[in-house]
Amino acid sequence: MRQQPFDFQVKNFLLNLARILGTRIEKILDLYLYVSPDTVRILEVVEKGGEVVGVRLAVRSTKRQDVWYYTSVGWYGAKCTCEGNTIGGKICRHIIIGIMTWNMVSLLKYGKDIDLSKLTWLNIGEKEI
Ligand SMILES: [Zn+2]
Repeated sequence: MRQQPFDFQVKNFLLNLARILGTRIEKILDLYLYVSPDTVRILEVVEKGGEVVGVRLAVRSTKRQDVWYYTSVGWYGAKCTCEGNTIGGKICRHIIIGIMTWNMVSLLKYGKDIDLSKLTWLNIGEKEI
């Protein structure tokens, strides 16, 4: 019977993320549903003091199947190798996927959500989603 609270927690997290990003929940759900073993690969999970403090991952481009972007997210910031982030300095969809993946790893390993209010960099950058 762990399924239900888990789903509830994930749903709440996604709603919260949409609110913080000032975007529609549908857009966040699209990104969430894009995540699969074919499109997202977790390269590194960084843990410290009994919590997940960040993840590094590769996200496949939606436009070009052979292109992967390398993204890292953590409490102090996020980086991505896509143009939107490297040139435009924007918070791109890969970074958003990174946050979702980070949260999922944290939920599965420690049963707790990441605290989005601690991601102050999320409020600063221009969003590209
Ligand atoms: Zn990106």
